[in-house]
Amino acid sequence: MALAAVLVAGAVGSLAREDETRRLRAQLTEQADITISLLGGLMIEAIIVEDVPVLETALQEAVARNPQILAIQILSPQRQMIAEARSSEVREEGETVVQQRPVSWEGEEFGFIHVQWSIREGKELIAANVRKVLLWTGATVATLSLVFLLLMHTLALRPLQMIHQRMSDAISGLKRPSLDLPWYASREFAALNFSVGVLEDTFEERDEREHALEQAREQADIANRAKSEFLANMSHEIRTPMNGVIGMAELMLETDLDDDQKMYASTISKSGSALLAIINDILNFSKIEADKIELETAPFNLQSAMEDIVTLLSPKTQEKGVETSLRYGPGLPQDFEGDAGRIRQVITNIAGNAVKFTSEGHVHIDVDGVKNGEVYDLTFTVSDTGVGIPEDRIGHIFNAFEQVDNAATRNFEGTGLGLAISARLIRLMGGSVEVASEPGKGSVFTIYLPLPASALHCDPVPAGQRIKSGLNILIVDDLELNRHILAERLSSWEAHCTVASSGPEALEILAGARSLGRRFDLIIQDYMMPGMDGLELAQRIRAIPEHRNLPVIILSSADQQLGKGAKTALAPCEMVLKPVRADQLRNVINRSLQPQPAAVQTEAALPFGETPSQDSGVLRVLLAEDNLTNQLVVRKMLKSYPVNIAIAANGAEAVAAYESQAPDVVLMDMMMPEMDGIEATQRIRILESRRRLQHCPVIALTANALPGDQEKCLAAGMDDFLSKPVSKTALWDAIVKWSGNRPAATGT
Ligand code: ADP
Repeated sequence: MALAAVLVAGAVGSLAREDETRRLRAQLTEQADITISLLGGLMIEAIIVEDVPVLETALQEAVARNPQILAIQILSPQRQMIAEARSSEVREEGETVVQQRPVSWEGEEFGFIHVQWSIREGKELIAANVRKVLLWTGATVATLSLVFLLLMHTLALRPLQMIHQRMSDAISGLKRPSLDLPWYASREFAALNFSVGVLEDTFEERDEREHALEQAREQADIANRAKSEFLANMSHEIRTPMNGVIGMAELMLETDLDDDQKMYASTISKSGSALLAIINDILNFSKIEADKIELETAPFNLQSAMEDIVTLLSPKTQEKGVETSLRYGPGLPQDFEGDAGRIRQVITNIAGNAVKFTSEGHVHIDVDGVKNGEVYDLTFTVSDTGVGIPEDRIGHIFNAFEQVDNAATRNFEGTGLGLAISARLIRLMGGSVEVASEPGKGSVFTIYLPLPASALHCDPVPAGQRIKSGLNILIVDDLELNRHILAERLSSWEAHCTVASSGPEALEILAGARSLGRRFDLIIQDYMMPGMDGLELAQRIRAIPEHRNLPVIILSSADQQLGKGAKTALAPCEMVLKPVRADQLRNVINRSLQPQPAAVQTEAALPFGETPSQDSGVLRVLLAEDNLTNQLVVRKMLKSYPVNIAIAANGAEAVAAYESQAPDVVLMDMMMPEMDGIEATQRIRILESRRRLQHCPVIALTANALPGDQEKCLAAGMDDFLSKPVSKTALWDAIVKWSGNRPAATGT
C-alpha cells in the first residue's frame, strides 16, 4: 500500500510539475510581450532619435519597478547597443530567461528590446505547488488504502482466520467451541466453513475408530502375551514328562526285550518324538504369530547347509527308493549372511514334504541366484515327481493347519503347520515362496530370498583338498539331471567332463578315446543303471588292459555295496554313498588319483566312552532337578559313563551341594521351587569369585524354549544350554566338552 501511495504520488507530482512549468513559461512570455510593447510604445520617439539619456532613465525606472527584470537593453536595427539598465540582483545560470522583441512603428522596425528575466520566483512557486499536490495525493491514497485494508480484514481475512482456526483445531484434534461466521461473510466462506465442519466430523469419527482399534490392539497384545506365556509354560509342562517318556523308552530299548516289548517301546519312543515335533511346530508358529521370532544374521556356508539337508533326508529317500539331487549354481558364492538355522528349517520342511509326497522318481533341489548390488537374489527350487496338489487346494496349503488330505482320508503324517511356518519365516527374511503343481505329476516350490554375500569364508577349501585342474573325467549316469549336476560341479573345478548315459555308451567313448590316443584321468559312474549296472561297467573297464589302472569312483546308495573281494579286484576303485557332498567328492577324487591305490578308509568314530582323557578319575556331576522322573532319566542316561551323580532338588540345595561337594560339572534345571537355576548359578559364580575357586561348568538342562532363555542362562553365568528332551549322546557330549575331556568313559 505504501509503495502504491509513493508511486501514485510520484506520478501525480511529475505531472503537476510539468503542468506548472508550462504555465510559468506562458505567463513569462505574456508578461515579456506586455512589458516590451509597453516600453516600446512609451519610448518609440526616444528610440527613433536614439535619445540615450531619456532611454536609460526610462529603462532604470522599468528595472526598479519590476524586480523580475534583471536587465533591459535597447538595440539598434543593426543590433548595436543604444541604452541599457541592469538590476543589482544576481542570478545563477539556469535561473534566468531572455526575451527579445522588435520595436516597430507603422510597419517599420527601429530597433530591438532585449529583456533578461529572473525565473527563480517562478521555480519556487512551482516547487511549492508540486509539494502541495504530492501531499494531497499521498494523503488521499493512504486514506483509501486504510479503508480498503479495513474492509479486506472485516470481509475476507476475519472469516478466513476463523475457518483456518477451526481447520487447525480439527487436524490437531483440539476440541474448542466453534464460533459462527459474521453475518456479512460471503456465501463462499459459508460453504467453506460448512465443509470444514464435515471434515471435523470425519476426523472425530476416525479418532474414535483409532481409539477403539488401539484399545483392541492393546487387548490383543495382552492376550497374545498371555498366549505366548501359556504356550511356553505348556511347552515346559509337556516337554518335562515327554523327556521322561522318550528317555525311558530309549533306555528300555537298551535292555533285553522280547519282540513285542521292543515294538511297544519303540512305538512309545516314535510317538513321543512325533508328539514333540508337533509341540515344536505349534510353539514355532505361535512365536511367529506373536512376533517373537528374532532372526539372526551371521555368516554361513549356504552350499554346506544345502548339502546337510540332502544328507539329512537321504535315509528317508533311500528307504523310499527316491533319487535326491542337489544343484548349487557354480557361479554362486558359498558364503552368505543370514539366519542359517531358519533357512535350513524352511528348505528342510519343503524338501521333506517333497520326499514325503513322492513315492517314485526324484526330488531335486536347485540353488541359484543373480547378483543385485550388494545382495544376491537367490532362488531355491524344490521339485518332485510326487502326488502333486489339486488346483483348488494349492491356494490353501500355506495356511495354518491346511492339508490337501482331510483328516478322515489322510495317508500322510503332519500337522499342516510346516508350510505356514516356512512361508512366514521366508516373508520375515524379506523373501517369498510360490508353488506350481500338477496332480499326479509333481510339485515345484520356488523360494525367492535376497541374501548378502559374506566376505568371510566360513569353510574355505584347504589348498591340499582342491583337485588338480584340467582333469579329464568321464561321467556315467542314466539320469540326465545327475549327469548335468556332476558335470557342472566338476567343470567349476576346472575339469573337462565327458558324459555317457549308459555303460555301453561309456565303453564306446573309452574305445573312441583310445583310438585317438586320448586318455581319461578318472571315471565317475552311477551304480544303479538300467541294463549294464555300475559294477558290470567297472568290471568291463578293468578287463581292458589300457584301463587296468584307470581310477573309478562308483556312486552308490546304502544297499548297493561292493563286497571286499570285488572292491580289491576293481582297485583303484572308490565307492561313495549318495548324496555326495562337494568336499566329499573332492576328497574321493584326490584319493583316487593318488599313485598308490588308496587304502579303504575306516574312519570309525570313537565312541564317547573312549574319549581320550587327561586323567582317569570319575566325574562328579551335580544334578539340580526337582522332577523325580527327570532325575531318574539323567541317572540312567549317564549310568554307563564314569560319573558320580549327586542330586539337588532345588536351587538352594544345589548351591549348598556345590559348596560342600565341589562337583566337576553342574547340570542345572531352570525352573525349580524355592530357588530357580538362574539364581543358583549366580550364587555359585559369586562364591567362586569370592573364594577364588576354579570355574565350575554349569550346563542348563531345561524344558524352556522361549527365545531369550538361552541368553538368560548364559548371562547368569552358565556355560551351555541343553533343551529337554536331551539325548544321551548330546548330554554326554556337553559334559565331556565342559569338563575338559577328563574322564575315560566306558559306556556306549
Ligand atoms: P504337513 O505337516 O501336513 O506336511 P505342511 O504345511 O508342510 O503340513 O503342508 C501342507 C499340505 O500341503 C500337506 O499336507 C500336503 O497336502 C501339501 N503339500 C505340501 N508339499 C507337498 C508336495 N511336495 N507334494 C504334494 N503335496 C504337498
